[in-house]
Amino acid sequence: MKVRVDEDLCVGCGLCVNTCPEIFEMKDDKVIAKVNVVPAAGEENAKQAKDECPVEAIIIS
Ligand code: SF4
Repeated sequence: MKVRVDEDLCVGCGLCVNTCPEIFEMKDDKVIAKVNVVPAAGEENAKQAKDECPVEAIIIS
């Protein structure tokens, strides 16, 4: 499972970092994904972060 953040959409609310700090981190006023490939143990958290993002900036493939 791969994850990335669309920086044009991200509003830097920080929700995904709270939900899934092993994957997402704040960088300046946006969030980036620290990894491209989500470890199996982090998949549920990554999906939850995607569902919670208010602007649908998290893309999972
Ligand atoms: S939840 Fe969405 S808008 Fe908020 S910081 Fe994460 S990617 Fe950005």
